[in-house]
Amino acid sequence: MCGIVGMYGVEAVNQALYDALTVLQHRGQDAAGIMTEDNDGHLHLRKDNGLVRDVFRTRHMRNLTGNIGIGHCRYPTAGSASSAEAQPFYVNSPYGISLAHNGNLTNTVELLDDLYRSDLRHINTSSDSEALLNVLAHHLQGAGKLIPEPDDFFEAVTEVHRRCKGAYAVVALVSGHGMLAFRDPNGIRPLVYGKREVEGGTDYMVASESVALSTAGFELIRDLEPGEALLVDKTGQLHTRVCAVDAELTPCLFEFVYLSRPDSVIDGISVYDARLNMGRKLAKTILEQLPDADQIDVVIPIPDTSRPIALETARTMGIDYREGFVKNRYIGRTFIMPGQTERKKSVRQKLNPVRHEFEGRNVLLVDDSIVRGTTSRQIVELARENGARKVYFASAAPPVRFPNVYGIDMPSRSELIAHDRTTAEIAEQLGADGLVYQTLDDLKDSVLECRRDIKGFDASVFDGHYVTPGIDLDYLAQLDARRNDSAKQSSDDEGEEQLAIRNGV
Ligand code: AMP
Repeated sequence: MCGIVGMYGVEAVNQALYDALTVLQHRGQDAAGIMTEDNDGHLHLRKDNGLVRDVFRTRHMRNLTGNIGIGHCRYPTAGSASSAEAQPFYVNSPYGISLAHNGNLTNTVELLDDLYRSDLRHINTSSDSEALLNVLAHHLQGAGKLIPEPDDFFEAVTEVHRRCKGAYAVVALVSGHGMLAFRDPNGIRPLVYGKREVEGGTDYMVASESVALSTAGFELIRDLEPGEALLVDKTGQLHTRVCAVDAELTPCLFEFVYLSRPDSVIDGISVYDARLNMGRKLAKTILEQLPDADQIDVVIPIPDTSRPIALETARTMGIDYREGFVKNRYIGRTFIMPGQTERKKSVRQKLNPVRHEFEGRNVLLVDDSIVRGTTSRQIVELARENGARKVYFASAAPPVRFPNVYGIDMPSRSELIAHDRTTAEIAEQLGADGLVYQTLDDLKDSVLECRRDIKGFDASVFDGHYVTPGIDLDYLAQLDARRNDSAKQSSDDEGEEQLAIRNGV
């Protein structure tokens, strides 16, 4: 997952893009980048590995001039973690196009081959996003116009939908011609747009989450529909069109459980409200499944994501909600770390217990999800070390049993604690006295209660059903091989090797 933003402004956009990226920082802490175009048609780029606040210094910001630009904060899901793969990416023909992408393409290998053999394009990284950019460029080039019309952009996006499979929310800057944004035909990753009336005209912003808009004083217009493209042309006119025939909204369920900020509204659904619903339904399942539910003295969230969930679980069960862990907010999310050793260490650095909330009590710990189980195991340990008598654990998401192919960096299947274990076995692994998982139906209903007309979700990490074609056992086996920690560490070398092979070196 990554965060993306694009802005067309009456005034300079650099500060607003920077601010938006800081608000989207939870979506990717690995690298950040901004590309702007000034009024003379010159492009300015700053990108590097690191947090937004570290990548952009005053001297970079001064250089990012112009009234139109795009930004990206990156979390590595495909390709390597080298700074060469920080986004936006750029291709100079036609027009000069820069692009930022959230999601993951699932047919990158075929695309790279087609781009090389048929479209005669050179791709310099192993990134699916660079492939996507070149597909877009190829089809814009195909229109063969010095001054493209909105139709030309929309036809190029139609071709992107035809050729690219997987998840993509994209924002692109087309030099001299405007800002283009589009969302895959399933709308797996979120993308919203809004406007702000200012002296001299209207500013437009496109972003992964509505919080980027609201914090900058933009009015949320709506989400891009699945398969829809948006163009703000060089005169500031807004054009939109659905560019896919079979578009159907099946948003990623994990966005609601964990990825998005609670104050975001995604596809018309308040993430916060959905999480309250999750807490209420989780309470019901706990009461049904946990024989000693009446022995629980206190409900404690694992901060931050599970707070509204635990709050509502406690209220529904009629039990006190207490803050038993204090989070050091200056440490990154644990799963950002490249190796298991670092990940283990950082849980204790990150969460410090308030001892007297545990001492002599039967506690119910509530988390949004259990992935590897590394965090949960240590948290259970911490609760016991601090005097808890019994430690029960509840997860607002069902067991995570399948890999994610749409841009979330889930570990390989064998690393998922639930992949071949029953709930009782997982409880034992975690050292918990009892474990309750939300059911998948309840999780879906938690979101559907906020918006009834969604026909389906990408819930693949829970049920192994992938909403786009081409995800078969072979594909998953190859993915598995690439995703274990050791493979990740050597991915830099692999990237270079692949490039050498494709180029016939
Ligand atoms: P663990 O079970 O140790 O992998 O940690 C799970 C916790 O990490 C969850 O409670 C989430 O807060 C967070 N998390 C969510 N998604 C992921 C992910 N893709 N990889 C790792 N951790 C995640």
